[in-house]
Amino acid sequence: MTVTPDCRILIVGAGLAGYHTARGLRAHGHTGPITVIGEENRPAYDRPALSKAYLTGAVCEEDLRLDDPENPLDVAWVSGRGVVGLSERPLGVRTDDGAFHEADAVVVTTGASACTLPPASAEEGSYVRPYVLRSMEDALALRDANLHGADVVVVGGGFLALETAATCVGRGAESVTVAAGEDYPGEKRLGRPVAEAIRIAHEARGVRFAPGARAEALRTAYVGDTMRHEVVLAGGATLGAHVVICAIGAQPRTDWLRESGIRLTHDTSAILCDDAGAASVPGVYAAGDCAQWASHSSGLRPVGHWQEAVEEAAVVSAALTGAAPVSLQEPYFWSDQFDLRIQGAGRIHSADHHEVLEGTPEEGNLLVRYLRDGEETGILGINRLRDVKCWRKRRQISAPASQTSAASGRIATLSR
Ligand SMILES: Cc1cc2nc3c(=O)[nH]c(=O)nc-3n(C[C@H](O)[C@H](O)[C@H](O)COP(=O)(O)OP(=O)(O)OC[C@H]3O[C@@H](n4cnc5c(N)ncnc54)[C@H](O)[C@@H]3O)c2cc1C
Repeated sequence: MTVTPDCRILIVGAGLAGYHTARGLRAHGHTGPITVIGEENRPAYDRPALSKAYLTGAVCEEDLRLDDPENPLDVAWVSGRGVVGLSERPLGVRTDDGAFHEADAVVVTTGASACTLPPASAEEGSYVRPYVLRSMEDALALRDANLHGADVVVVGGGFLALETAATCVGRGAESVTVAAGEDYPGEKRLGRPVAEAIRIAHEARGVRFAPGARAEALRTAYVGDTMRHEVVLAGGATLGAHVVICAIGAQPRTDWLRESGIRLTHDTSAILCDDAGAASVPGVYAAGDCAQWASHSSGLRPVGHWQEAVEEAAVVSAALTGAAPVSLQEPYFWSDQFDLRIQGAGRIHSADHHEVLEGTPEEGNLLVRYLRDGEETGILGINRLRDVKCWRKRRQISAPASQTSAASGRIATLSR
């Protein structure tokens, strides 16, 4: 669907993908009204620094702002309003103040919310929600927490958990323990050499790793005036802490679409989209962490990384305005932990064969490639910026087939 340049476009969610969709639409010459509705009461901002430089105080809120206050986008921002429902006819959305916002096209970019641990018992008062990291509000709460001298447990074994553990060490925590549910966090997804390099770097700075049991629940008790938490592991063992931070994944923010005709994935409830971001209801598109796109090369596009959100926004804005199709890059992510810059590009799956090309885990310098059926699918570098850059450049040039077309109409299937 291409809309005329004067059509009304509504973007739900004022985050990374929402901002870039609006920016792309204007860049492609859309002259009609663009409204961006966001539930947060602050200008759109970038999230990666929330677990890193923002938590240490090295950057402030203003540094993370996406829109340039000197040269703002020509869009109507509706802040502090949650969208609660979608209507197909007339096309539009309802906000939590009861207002209806009609549009010719709707782009959903509502991101995801942080998952958390349940209480260990149903008893009132025995559970205090752990810290999570998804929004600026979450990061502010953790930034204000007194970590100095505290015992911190970080639950989760993904990049967000490990970045946060590294940041807590820098904030003067007495002890930082990661409860990852595997002895070598990341091993299942990235393979042993990478997971080993990460573990070695963390242990060298004092981070401890709880034995492989999964964290299942949380309970809170007072010892005198001091609040202590207990993370309950599978099998019943517990880890005590003053501060618990939960980084165990995120859930697409699509609850408000349950009554609509929008098709969601069975497992994660992400919005099913074709490879130009079109959802199952005509005129509705989705991009970023709330969406599961089809992919030409692998069946499904990865979800949850910065680059995917920005690229999908670019594809949707091109599709809506009829601009030339955007050429997608190979999937890409990065993570900063202590002095490690970890970068992954292409398809990296635990089931794939992997081999170390250069470096060793002990050096904190590693280049690993991933292969499926003998064909190279992805690369991961630890402090190998140049190699990863060259690999991405090479793949970009040799993969024109990954071009996406506005009219492809292939909704993502659930099977890989
Ligand atoms: C702490 C943190 C660190 C990260 N670090 C990295 C990194 O190092 N590398 C990397 O590749 N990626 C990283 N990411 C991932 C990356 O930031 C996300 O993939 C990206 O922000 C997704 O963009 P989005 O627009 O889909 O969602 P978001 O940026 O989350 O924006 C969604 C917006 O929609 C709003 N919203 C939700 N529901 C509604 C509703 N019903 N009505 C109105 N508004 C609504 C939300 O409040 C939010 O403002 C990190 C993410 C986090 C949280």
